[in-house]
Amino acid sequence: MDPKYKDIGTPIICLVEECGELLQAISKGDRFGWDNSHPRRTATNLDELRSEWKDLCEAYHNFIEHIEPTTCDCGQPVDPGYKMCQDCAIIECRDRR
Ligand SMILES: [Zn+2]
Repeated sequence: MDPKYKDIGTPIICLVEECGELLQAISKGDRFGWDNSHPRRTATNLDELRSEWKDLCEAYHNFIEHIEPTTCDCGQPVDPGYKMCQDCAIIECRDRR
């Protein structure tokens, strides 16, 4: 995935999109041949499948990171998508003033 698109859309939507792209790569390879390639590209359909598989893995890990409950350095649980608990975030914000 192009890094400039990495943070566009929610992690679940990115995961869904990458699933779709993997399915498309599988069907293209099966229909037109794994050694065949798109007329305007040099990568074979097998190369495209590998690339889509890699993108799906990245989207999966990003999604898991987003939903897995984490713990703040202070031991309190952290809301999904955040790196510290609300109490520590307030203290850090206050200390920066
Ligand atoms: Zn904390």
